Amino acid sequence: MNINEEIEIYTKSNPKSFNLHKTGKKVMPGGDTRNSIYWDPFPLYLSKGNGSIITDLDGNERVDLINNMTTLILGHNNKKIKKVIIEQTKKGVSFPSPTPPVVKLAELICDRVKSVEKIRFVNSGTEATLNAIRAARAFTGKQKIVKCEGAYHGNHDSVQISVTPSLDVAGDEHFPNPVKAFEGISDSAENDIYIIPYNNEKAAKIIIEKYASEIAAVIVEPVNGQCGMIPAKKLFLETIREVTKKNNIVLIFDEVISFRISRGGAQEYYDIYPDITCFGKIIGGGMPVGAFGGNNKIMSLWNPSNDKNYVQHAGTFNGNPITAVAGIATLESLTEKVYIDINKKGDYLRSKLSNLFLEMEAPMSVTGIGSLFALQFTTDKVYDYRSYMKNNQILNNQMFIGLINSGFLLSNRCAGNISACNTYDELDKFIESIKIIISKLGY
Ligand code: PMP
Repeated sequence: MNINEEIEIYTKSNPKSFNLHKTGKKVMPGGDTRNSIYWDPFPLYLSKGNGSIITDLDGNERVDLINNMTTLILGHNNKKIKKVIIEQTKKGVSFPSPTPPVVKLAELICDRVKSVEKIRFVNSGTEATLNAIRAARAFTGKQKIVKCEGAYHGNHDSVQISVTPSLDVAGDEHFPNPVKAFEGISDSAENDIYIIPYNNEKAAKIIIEKYASEIAAVIVEPVNGQCGMIPAKKLFLETIREVTKKNNIVLIFDEVISFRISRGGAQEYYDIYPDITCFGKIIGGGMPVGAFGGNNKIMSLWNPSNDKNYVQHAGTFNGNPITAVAGIATLESLTEKVYIDINKKGDYLRSKLSNLFLEMEAPMSVTGIGSLFALQFTTDKVYDYRSYMKNNQILNNQMFIGLINSGFLLSNRCAGNISACNTYDELDKFIESIKIIISKLGY
């Protein structure tokens, strides 16, 4: 398979996207406003989505296996969500005072998530982790934070460190260097962080214990999204839980992605509970959202009726009613049956793909948990950032564009997820397309 030929097919079959990209580039750097969904030579510009199918400007239909980066767990154009949004717009779209839907959404989440007694809403996962870290600093009086190498927790300085560091500068695998994700990040963010290797409980414990007197928080994703939806080892999470508890360190679970793996999130699946949980994506039903919650004691930091010692938390659109009604409709639709169905489809897909790669002797593997999956272009086991870095990026790019040309959309790192609308038939066709691409690649 020749990548240039695939790109030519892609360019020829998407002339309207190509042209809009030219216009877009005149007014937005890269022609869009979100780097994570950019790819060369130009991204697809989409016009609509229905169920599991998305349609681009040229009328090409594709099976959506990325669902706005794991957000649309019920697929596109869900009738119930659409109805409540339309009804809410008739009443008003935003107000300078709380509305009933925000209280209801808070009740639904507190009911589902054992470690969350109180919650606050924001407009993105980025703001959720920002506020959670601030809470940890206010709560402990300490400054430093700990995060895993290769983890993405949003686009603010404190966590834009060691997200995809180059291995030349990443340092010792057992005690990685903090590396700014790009220029523009403050020096203090780099100085205020310790980096631990994901899924390495021994190394993590040593680092956290050594610097415990300075550390306010450890932030961790129970399923690492960026390196390919890699589930944490239970022992890793248990160790971190134990060592943080002993040392007056706030444990933050970033469940922006992993909240979709069960009704009570990854923490319920693992039966390990953090002090603060960050949410995003699915809880807003496709509308902009983020949230952070925890026990009464920590969350009382934000109580404005405390005369002093309260932490500021403003935001013009926090808890807006459109997001809240869409979130309520989503959570109410997410019954136990839906989780069982999408997680079973995830198991089916991963097991079929693993067998296929073995049969074809392709240098690939698959990672994931529940409805989350990612293709890995290495046969070595991927369990952390360093092992993820063994991926063959050229194969990744060939597969990504080949799949777009075959009618499937994944993230540009070939990660995906299954919505309640994706069918077994779609998954079988997806597997068949991967098989064809692998044989075109010469395996
Ligand atoms: N945390 C994780 C684990 C994420 O995957 C993301 C976004 N992909 C964020 C935080 C940031 O969320 P947002 O894009 O809504 O700011």
